[in-house]
Amino acid sequence: MTTLTGIGYDSHRLTDGRRLVIGGVEIPHERGLDGHSDSDVLAHALIDALLGAAGLGDIGEHFPDTDERWRDADSIQLLEAVAAMVSARGMTMVNVDCTVIMEAPKLAPHRQAIRRRLAEAVGLEMKRVNVKASTGERMGFVGRGEGVAALAVAALYEPG
Ligand code: MG
Repeated sequence: MTTLTGIGYDSHRLTDGRRLVIGGVEIPHERGLDGHSDSDVLAHALIDALLGAAGLGDIGEHFPDTDERWRDADSIQLLEAVAAMVSARGMTMVNVDCTVIMEAPKLAPHRQAIRRRLAEAVGLEMKRVNVKASTGERMGFVGRGEGVAALAVAALYEPG
């Protein structure tokens, strides 16, 4: 059995007139994340972690933001597609761990809902999907409230 790990990182700008969708959960806030798809920064980081662990490139390669098919795409559906890609190649997910770095609003009230949504999307038990929250301590683009960043790691195993 071979163990595989991958990392993912993403960031999106906060802007007026957009929804704030993090890990497939819409969080009430006066601003949301800007971008081509629904700009779910956490789903995107997790997609890259899974693709990384599986050796399958990155999100931009699979879902280019120049492609109209992915305009306002539900990133949870992209995550489901990537999870299916991984299992189609005979790899099994072990766990994923994520950190959302955001100054406001507070992620804590939504953390369990996010874990549940991500767990369903990738086909893992909730205890194997961890979601953490951090802030920028008022430093940098996150600290100034200009954007949100997310990090993820994923572990897979491949029999043989
Ligand atoms: Mg992104």
